[in-house]
Amino acid sequence: MLFKKKKFERKVILNKEVLDSILSYCQMKHPNEGILILKGKSKNGEINIDGLVIPPFNYTGPTFAGFPHSFLPFDMSYVGIVHSHPSGSAEPSVTDLHNFFGLVSLIVKSPYSDESVFAWDSSGNAIPLSIKQ
Ligand SMILES: [Zn+2]
Repeated sequence: MLFKKKKFERKVILNKEVLDSILSYCQMKHPNEGILILKGKSKNGEINIDGLVIPPFNYTGPTFAGFPHSFLPFDMSYVGIVHSHPSGSAEPSVTDLHNFFGLVSLIVKSPYSDESVFAWDSSGNAIPLSIKQ
């Protein structure tokens, strides 16, 4: 079939240890935002996150977090970024979507529990997220 479209079921799988590291990093940064680079693998729409990198020269405040992308080495294992929203909303802001990096953007809202993490694509659509123990 020429017109058959192959549609991948997208999902994000987050390693439990990585989740714990993200949550404690965000708690430490509170009331400012925290930002980290996600490392992992992507295959057939499935993004496996198994590591973190602290971005060089990152700047954060109560309502923003970022880093100059030009300082990043080209690394295929960088699948996205995670940042926190101390305000308690997990929705990506216009700035977040404008600064989208990689394949997925995780947002952790206050109070930084296991249920406070949400995954988004570059259009601001939610991606199902599951935790791997
Ligand atoms: Zn944000």
